[in-house]
Amino acid sequence: MSKVVVFGHKNPDTDSICSSIVMANLQTKIRGEEVVPCRLGEINEETKYALDYFKAETPKLIEKVEEGQTVILVDHNEFTQTAEGIENAKIDTVVDHHRINNFHTAEPLSYYAQPVGCTSTLLYELYTLNNVEIEAKYAGLMLSAIISDTLLLKSPTTTEKDKKAVEELAKIAKIDVEKYGLDLLKAGTNLDKYTEKQLINLDAKIVENSGIRCMVAQVNTVNIPDVLKRKEKLEEVINQEIAEKELDLLVFAITDIVNSNSEAIVLGKRTDLVGKTFEIKNNIAVMPGVVSRKKQILPLIEKNM
Ligand code: MG
Ligand code: MG
Ligand code: MG
Repeated sequence: MSKVVVFGHKNPDTDSICSSIVMANLQTKIRGEEVVPCRLGEINEETKYALDYFKAETPKLIEKVEEGQTVILVDHNEFTQTAEGIENAKIDTVVDHHRINNFHTAEPLSYYAQPVGCTSTLLYELYTLNNVEIEAKYAGLMLSAIISDTLLLKSPTTTEKDKKAVEELAKIAKIDVEKYGLDLLKAGTNLDKYTEKQLINLDAKIVENSGIRCMVAQVNTVNIPDVLKRKEKLEEVINQEIAEKELDLLVFAITDIVNSNSEAIVLGKRTDLVGKTFEIKNNIAVMPGVVSRKKQILPLIEKNM
């Protein structure tokens, strides 16, 4: 494929998918040539709700990138989270709201990053900076991404910029944020249709630091005990994942989006990385007030390393 492609991380969430579609639209307008949105995995139920609502097409599935392929990364930078072959691709631009880690390029690039709650908040700024008008459909997709990443502006990752973007985008998309937001988040809590293996990989990130490999997976729910009914089978599959992916720790966080709490199944030979902060009983750590992997779970694991 010779066209420029844009994609978010593996196990894509609503931000990775919506920001890819939106960035492709913005870049197509800026460059005057077609930029193609892609994805590195299946879309989840929440994302599907957003794409259906705003009548957006699902991005094309790719697994790897060709040598010399020009790519734009959104919502990630770490090579453990991206497409195969990235080492030999040409990374043209990154728009992201995560730490920079496991990342290097052979050539100079554009890199737009800020510690905000969502990539789409930055894309909203980029439309403004480039004087490109935002169509309602793309406003709706950005809005969906921000609602998803910030759990309707309730996550501790939320910034003033995210709030401002939501306010402006809601006007353009003509959306009642509270109503649409809850419907969107709830669409992502229907977990019954997934197998345990799918649940664990629905929204999972692998991080590697000082030789320690950890995977932190997260699902949203309105009823944690309901998900924990499957604990035994989940544990079995988590242990398989640990063996397959050579992990030292797997944290499977089940997040209650209404009450803003999490409980996590914690397994692997380095459960102490969580255990130093939260008591683990029967492989479960109760985490009151914890909803953010990026701002709460990952920092505590890394602090304990
Ligand atoms: Mg993401
Ligand atoms: Mg994001
Ligand atoms: Mg997320």
